[in-house]
Order: sequence, then C-alpha cells, then structure tokens
Amino acid sequence: MRARVILIITVVCLLELVLVLGGGYRLMNARTVQVAGRLVDRVDTTEKVVALTFDDGPTGAADAEAILETLADRGVRATFYLTGSGIEQFPDAAAELVDAGHELGNHTWSHPRMILLPPSRIAHEVSATDRLIRQAGYDGEISFRPPYGKKLLTLPLYLAATQRTTVTWDVEADSEDSTGHSAEELAAATVAGTRPGSIILLHPWYGRTATRQAIGMIIDDLHRQGYRFVTVSDLIHG
Ligand SMILES: [Zn+2]
Repeated sequence: MRARVILIITVVCLLELVLVLGGGYRLMNARTVQVAGRLVDRVDTTEKVVALTFDDGPTGAADAEAILETLADRGVRATFYLTGSGIEQFPDAAAELVDAGHELGNHTWSHPRMILLPPSRIAHEVSATDRLIRQAGYDGEISFRPPYGKKLLTLPLYLAATQRTTVTWDVEADSEDSTGHSAEELAAATVAGTRPGSIILLHPWYGRTATRQAIGMIIDDLHRQGYRFVTVSDLIHG
C-alpha cells in the first residue's frame, strides 16, 4: 500500500515536471481553470456586488490599522489572504482583522510557487496556515489562494482531496511585482476592470501606500456606481 502511494506521488511529480518543461505555463498560471477541485475567479451575477481581497501579510500593526481604518470608515468587509509566517510574526494584526469582522483566507505558509513541491510540503504550507488562521479567532470558511496564482497538479489534487475552494481574481491593477503607479492610476484601472460579481485583488501590505490610498478611492467610486462589497464566502454563497 505504502509503495503504491509513493509510486503515485512520484508519477504525479514527474508529470508536473514534464508539464513545466513541456510548456504547461498556461495551465500553471490560468486564473479560471485547474485540473481538480473547485476554482472561483468571479461569480456570475447581474447584481452589483463585488469582493475586495488583499494578498500577503500581515506585516505589522501600522499597516493593519491603516487598512482597517479605510474599510471601517466606509463600512466595508473584505477578505484577507494571509501567510502563516506573517500571522506567526504578527498574531495581533491578524486578530484585529478578525475582530473587525473581516474574512481570512489561506495564502500558504511561506509564499512559494506551489509547483514542483513534494505533497508533504504542500500539505504543510496549507494546513499549518489554517491552524494559525483559527488561532487568530477566525471561525468562518477558509478558502485558498495560491501565491502568484500558480498551480499545476499536486496542489489542485491536495486542495480537492481536502475540500478546499481555490479563489483567484478577475481584477488586479497592482500586481505582486509591479509598483510605481499612483493611487489614482491604480484606482482608475481597478474600477474600469470591475463588473458585477468581480473579485478584486490588491496588495496593500509592506507599506505600499499608493495601493492603500487606492482602496478608499475604489470603494468610494464603486459605491457611487451602486456597488456593494461582500466577503468572498458571501459572494460565492450568494
Ligand atoms: Zn501573494
């Protein structure tokens, strides 16, 4: 039995390597499909409802308070995809997000590209992070967002086997490695890309002030257009 499991794991890992070498880039980076398990990049609706999601972090009290204040002033609940290592370093910041009524999601422990990793490492990245999300006091549904949106075979198979929903996005103006845009530019690009059912991704941690200022502008502009903001699980479950 154990030999068979090891054989299957080896075959899946080899297949993943073949896919990477053979040009599986589109599958690896696809935001709307994965080989197993449920993936949501937006929901189909005519209702003007969207989810605001923030990746990475937490990176400390100052960052958390600035983000929380912007959301509280506007009565908006958001979804934070946190890393386990971030929560371990700043448990109080994570708990503050929960206390303020926001949703927490899993963004792995150490933010690796989740391809070509052994299944045991993948399981640890996800399950150890879930544990700290619970310790922060969050008791709702935990969805998963892969760092850089990357996934191939091993990760989707694990997520499917553990009944986790993968949540990507359909609107992103401040990608993980791009900076240098003004808050106005980020807000305008985000609002222009938003439609009913959108999942918006922003990276406001690490002192990224332009993104942080853009949050308020995005909310105000979309509120004027009649949009409502909900958490990812509220969006998915209608
Ligand atoms: Zn990330």
